[in-house]
This record gives sequence, structure tokens and C-alpha cells, in this order.
Amino acid sequence: MKSFDVVVLGGGPGGLTAGMMLTAMEKSVALVQAEHDDFGGVCLNRGCMPTKALLKAATAYRYARQGEKYGLDLSAGPVDLKRLRAVADADLDKLKGMIQGSIDPSPVTIFRGLGSFQSEHEILITKNDGSSEIIRGEQIIIATGSESVELPFAPFDGEYILSSDHMLKNTELPERLLIVGGGAIGCEFATMYHSFGSQVTLVEAFETLLPREDAEAGKALADAFENQGISVKTGTMIEALQVENGQVVVKYKGSETTEIVDKVLVGVGRKPMVAGLNLDAAGVEVEKGAIKVSPAMQTSVPHIFAVGDVTGGLMLAHAAEKAGAILAMNMAKGANASLDEDGVPRVVFSYPEVAAIGVSEVKAGMKSFTMSPVPNGRSVVDKVAPAFVKLFAEEESSVITGAIIVGEVATEMIHELALAVDNRLTLEQVGNTVHAHPTHSTNVVKAVHHFQYQA
Ligand SMILES: Cc1cc2nc3c(=O)[nH]c(=O)nc-3n(C[C@H](O)[C@H](O)[C@H](O)COP(=O)(O)OP(=O)(O)OC[C@H]3O[C@@H](n4cnc5c(N)ncnc54)[C@H](O)[C@@H]3O)c2cc1C
Repeated sequence: MKSFDVVVLGGGPGGLTAGMMLTAMEKSVALVQAEHDDFGGVCLNRGCMPTKALLKAATAYRYARQGEKYGLDLSAGPVDLKRLRAVADADLDKLKGMIQGSIDPSPVTIFRGLGSFQSEHEILITKNDGSSEIIRGEQIIIATGSESVELPFAPFDGEYILSSDHMLKNTELPERLLIVGGGAIGCEFATMYHSFGSQVTLVEAFETLLPREDAEAGKALADAFENQGISVKTGTMIEALQVENGQVVVKYKGSETTEIVDKVLVGVGRKPMVAGLNLDAAGVEVEKGAIKVSPAMQTSVPHIFAVGDVTGGLMLAHAAEKAGAILAMNMAKGANASLDEDGVPRVVFSYPEVAAIGVSEVKAGMKSFTMSPVPNGRSVVDKVAPAFVKLFAEEESSVITGAIIVGEVATEMIHELALAVDNRLTLEQVGNTVHAHPTHSTNVVKAVHHFQYQA
């Protein structure tokens, strides 16, 4: 039986980062990756990157359709999703090549197949062709990611009731698309399909979109969507989705009226990928569906660790990657460091974009300030809505503890506030920083100044 210092299950941002760093620190590492994805995990194969490639096409299409706003005569024919997907696939191939290029020269040992526990040190790897082998790890990292959650009354069928995985493979533009779930995935697909020309209804059970974020920001996003023509129904529950004659009949809770749509994307969340791992064989405990870990990512079995989406925390690629790097250092140096989730930017690539950092509500000893979107030079010439900015700070010290931005390039603008939160910078320090003209970021510094004067 082949034996390694560390066996890593899953080659996404968390597992790949931890595995490659441990290899660089001279550990013998086996990286086990299921055959249905290339290295890069959900992020590269079925998540961040394909959505961003298609969202870029959506932006280009939106500009082409709104050329007259800029004094341009542009023409935009109908969207051919097959062609867009082919272009996106070419980008993904480039990125996969870049990852392979970093793996190839490294002494890491690759196994393709599904890994599951045989015992607390042994992993069974089963390939699609039915062949299998067992390897041994002195230590083991579980980094198997997450999968889409189904609605109990409407399981995925891949044709009418779709997960984000299905949606990314879809090549037909639905005339009417219902999106269930106003979280990041629902909002990004709403932007994408509305831009491509579908009539989109976005339904969220909570009172605001992005319900884990600040309510005012969620409301600002909902208003922007409504202004564009996306129908947003918050505080609304779906009771039934019935496929009839090639369409889906939507029944809302507490209402007699029904709606007919062509396809439904269910984006009600993701659950940790623990199915099939045979965790009982190793005694690894699960809590609320996620692998139970200490802040330093140790499971209930001391030599087994877990990182990324499978631990159920912030399900973001950069959180998994950073946690993977911290875990690798912990394992190599016997340290106990943990990921500070307050320092992880939370990003949504909708139109407008949303980005947040740190706290999302006023806690004891804190204050907040919301700046109503003020047009600035850049927003006027770009012909976009000015950024909504909300800031949180400690009452006494004015140290910035959180922020949320809704607007053009918010996912880029958030980093100065991430730096501020991470390094306990004050409103004064950020306010004294000269911001280039004309940029959308001037709204951040304007918000900081108003917050200071208000205090
Ligand atoms: C549509 C969509 C859009 C997203 N957009 C963004 C975004 O813009 N920005 C962002 O930060 N995050 C985004 N995410 C979230 C991001 O993709 C995840 O947070 C990130 O991929 C998690 O990394 P991970 O390493 O924990 O797991 P994953 O990336 O899920 O990787 C785990 C890998 O392990 C493999 N695996 C599973 N079980 C086994 C097994 N038993 N044996 C071997 N291999 C196994 C899986 O096939 C997978 O390839 C998006 C997700 C989705 C679905």
C-alpha cells in the first residue's frame, strides 16, 4: 500500500492550496480528485470562473444593447448560449492549463477517483471504471467542497428544475426564468439571464435579497434589479413547482394565483459534500451537515483536518484558499492558527455588484453610517448608478469594523476597506488617503468623511 505524510481529498481551492504548500514544505502528499472535475474544484469547473466568464459576456451584451446611451450605434443580435459557453470553455481551459502547469513540476502524487475512508488512516480510491486502490495517510485533509441544495418538493431534473451546475451547461435561453433564492448565486444568474434577454423573476423567502448581509444594501440591490426590469419577490415562499406540458407552474405560499415559467433555477444554498466519504469508518463527526472542526480546522479525529466549503463556513473560493494555506502552515509547523472570517471579503458579481467586509450589523459599542448614493464624475460619465456605501466603526476609536458597497466595480473597491478592517485602520486614516479622480472609489472616501463629520 502506498503511504504518504498527508492525503488530501479534493483538489479545489482549499485542498489544492494546502496540498501544494505541504509538498513545497517537503511533506509527501497524495492529492485525490474525483474524475468529474478537473483540478480547481467547483470554483474553476462549475462556479466562480464559468459564471464570471458568462457575466462578462452579459456585460458586453448590455453595453451593445444600450449603445445609444453612449452616442454609439451598436447592434446586438440574439444571444447564442452555445457560442458563449464555447468562449467561456476556452478561458477555463487556459486556467486549467495554468493549474496543471503548477502541479506538473511538483513532487505531489495525483490520484483520480472518489476517495472514501476505509479506516482512520486508509483511503479507498474508486475510479469511474470500477477499479480501486487503497492508500495510507499519516494525516488526512478533507476538502471535498459542497453541492447544491434541492427543494424537497421539486428535485432537480436537469431540464426544468435546475441547479447552478445544470444552468451553466444550459444552451437554451428561457423566455421566462424563475430563480428561487436571492443569495449570491441567484443574484448573479438573475443578472446574467436578464441581460441575455430572459424575463427573470427572483424569489427570496427572507425580506431582503442577500439576507445574510445588511438589509439596506439588500434593498438597494433589489431596487436596482427592479429598475432594470427583473421582478423581485422578497418575503415570498414557493409552495409547489409542477412541470406540465413543457412548462413549470409556480404556486406561491398564501396565494391562489399561479405563474408559468419555462425553467427554474434553484439557488437556495449549498451543503457540504460529505456524502460517500464513509466518515464513520474514521470516526469523523458531522454537525449540522458539515464536518465539525476546531478553529484550527482539526476534526474530531486529531490527525484528520477539513478545509473549505465542507466545513460549512463562508462558502467562498478565497476563504477556502486562505484557510488551506493556514492549515498547511499549521500542519507543517505544529501551529494552531485559524481563519478570521471577518477579514474575508464577501462578493456578489451581479449588476450592480455587491461587496462586503467585516461586520454586517451594529454590535455593542459600534456605530454605522449609510451614505445615500451621490453621483460623482465617474458615475455620471459611465452612466451608471453611483455606489451605495455603508460603513461600520467602533464608537470610541472610530476603527472601521465593516463595510458594504453596492455599485459598479464594488468587488474591486472593497479591498481598501478589507485592508482597513484587517489592520484596524480608523475613519481618519482612510479619509486622509487621497483617492484618484475620477473613480467610483471617491464615494468610499466621501462616505468616510460624512461618517466622521456626523460623529
Ligand atoms: C455558481 C457558483 C458561483 C460561485 N462564484 C464564486 C465567486 O465568484 N467567488 C467565490 O469566492 N466563490 C464562488 N463560489 C464558491 C466557490 O466555488 C467555493 O467556495 C469554492 O470552490 C470552495 O472550495 P473548496 O476547495 O472548499 O471545494 P471545491 O471547490 O468544491 O472543490 C472540491 C473538489 O473535491 C472534489 N471531490 C468531492 N468529493 C470527493 C471525493 N470523495 N474524493 C475526491 N474528490 C472529491 C469535487 O469534485 C471538487 O472538485 C461559487 C460557487 C458556485 C456554485
